[in-house]
Amino acid sequence: MSGRTSSRRARPSFDDVPDARRRNMAAISGRDTKPERTLRRILHSLGYRFRLHRRDLPGRPDIVLPGRRKVIFINGCFWHRHGCRNSVLPRARREWWEAKLSRNVERDIANVAALKAQDWSVLTVWECEMDNAARLSKIIQSFLGPPGSLAAQAVLSRKAKSRRVANRGNRQ
Ligand SMILES: [Zn+2]
Repeated sequence: MSGRTSSRRARPSFDDVPDARRRNMAAISGRDTKPERTLRRILHSLGYRFRLHRRDLPGRPDIVLPGRRKVIFINGCFWHRHGCRNSVLPRARREWWEAKLSRNVERDIANVAALKAQDWSVLTVWECEMDNAARLSKIIQSFLGPPGSLAAQAVLSRKAKSRRVANRGNRQ
């Protein structure tokens, strides 16, 4: 296993990182993470329908609402450099981490720009925001608009319009 040892020396591994953060990082770097499940639960409870991980979209957004042309990314604070207390860099090999993680951030910026160029609206939700479900629900609702199917909303707005027309008719 000498190869492994030398590659460890060349690139920092999770061994350089304190235990708590290491667990956190391992969880966040995978798919179907706890923050993701939390967000999906909130979306379901609010009545939104969505798809997951559309591979054909830049950055493979975690949540996709094709009818609304909106996507949501759930970012791990450490990996995407949120700037909150969860994103403090390890003391060891700080420069290596800085270089590695700033590439992630550059990629995020490029993905968001590519999505916007294709007329998608993008919301980024941070791992640390998952603790406050009430606040997160508000953020999501103001980004997505009212829940329920768009077809049902179209019917409702047609009805409202015809009511308005009828009211105008009464006044004349
Ligand atoms: Zn954060």
